[in-house]
Amino acid sequence: MSEPHLARVIPLRELRSASADAQIAAYATKTAGKSVLDRLGRPLRDLRISVTDRCNFRCSYCMPKEVFGRDYRYLPHDSLLNFDEITRLSRQFVELGVRKLRLTGGEPLLRKNVEQLVRQLSELRTPEGEEIDLTMTTNGALLASKARALKEAGLNRVTVSLDGLNDEVFKRMNDVDFPVGKVLKGIEAAQAAGISNIKVNMVVKRGTNEHEVLPMAKFFRGTGVTLRFIEFMDVGATNGWRMADVVPSEDIVRLISSELPLVPLAASSAGETAQRYGYAGQNGQPDKLLGEVGVISSVTKAFCSDCNRARLSTEGRLFLCLFGSQGVDLRQFLRGENPMSDVELINVIAGIWQSRADRYSELREKVLVMPSLQRSARPEMSYIGG
Ligand code: SAM
Ligand code: SF4
Ligand code: SF4
Repeated sequence: MSEPHLARVIPLRELRSASADAQIAAYATKTAGKSVLDRLGRPLRDLRISVTDRCNFRCSYCMPKEVFGRDYRYLPHDSLLNFDEITRLSRQFVELGVRKLRLTGGEPLLRKNVEQLVRQLSELRTPEGEEIDLTMTTNGALLASKARALKEAGLNRVTVSLDGLNDEVFKRMNDVDFPVGKVLKGIEAAQAAGISNIKVNMVVKRGTNEHEVLPMAKFFRGTGVTLRFIEFMDVGATNGWRMADVVPSEDIVRLISSELPLVPLAASSAGETAQRYGYAGQNGQPDKLLGEVGVISSVTKAFCSDCNRARLSTEGRLFLCLFGSQGVDLRQFLRGENPMSDVELINVIAGIWQSRADRYSELREKVLVMPSLQRSARPEMSYIGG
């Protein structure tokens, strides 16, 4: 889990003399059709990029007020990766097989001019010349004012987090008195701007918002927005997680189907985190017009065997698992007197991925007693990006 990743990095070749483009082309030819695999045979496909560790919400399960209060010290601005650094790193990840980039945080819409970063990333292409699947996870608070600029910059997908439709419940969860209506306005603005693929994420916590599951399902059914329920996870060290607060996805599916019949759907891509269900029409078959829901069973049904995600923290540390206690500082390779070439970066990142053997969720029960996995040692979700 928390192996010293760099210790296993494949040796760097001394390639600085030839042109970087030619070297990358050579690398791409050598690896064409092959994937960089980790120690458990998993390819690297998905990169989540945290663009800020700040947030305008204080969701109790993520950034509880008692910890993230007035005195909390956020990262200084010059320690954040700038847009060119993020783009440059992303390009190397794409060379290594990443096909999906997700901007997250903290709250990504708080990062000044984030649409400029969206523009830069939307211009990246795979070695085959195809577009990258670029998306963003946001709490939606600023989406109404940003949706158009984001779409114009090239964002075609967005995931909005919303934990209920009842104002009292939602305000208690975001802990900054933020009303549901404004998030819904953000979703409407995204639709109006032409962002075609919109998902809503709802974290379900027992005794807090489980009674919002059905109202949410009924509200979003048939709107073209896909709702996904996420099990409350033991990420970070500060959210007071207890197994007793987790509502298993199975219960959620049972609850929804009791009123709105569901039909299981096949995964749309390898490594997909959500189990998908279509709403059944009169004939008992999935009705496209009614749309679908998904459940993400991060706790009760670990999906580590297919996990193809890496995470880049706000200051450029590479994490290979949401529960990894240490990341690898990639920023050091970009800055300073002797920054690495693209080929060197590709080699370093490939080596880090090849050394990966994380599967925390699969081992959760067995390893909770291991010191390296004690919660105090784990990075916060708002820092490495959810
Ligand atoms: N601020 C943005 C937002 O809330 O959408 C992006 C960052 S947030 C860390 C990304 C996602 O992680 C959100 O959908 C949030 O609900 C989810 N999340 C945060 N803490 C979680 C936890 N303890 N268990 C499950 N999901 C969590
Ligand atoms: Fe902020 Fe998102 Fe965490 Fe809520 S889940 S505190 S909105 S980063
Ligand atoms: Fe991936 Fe780690 Fe989550 Fe398993 S626990 S699915 S390896 S991020």
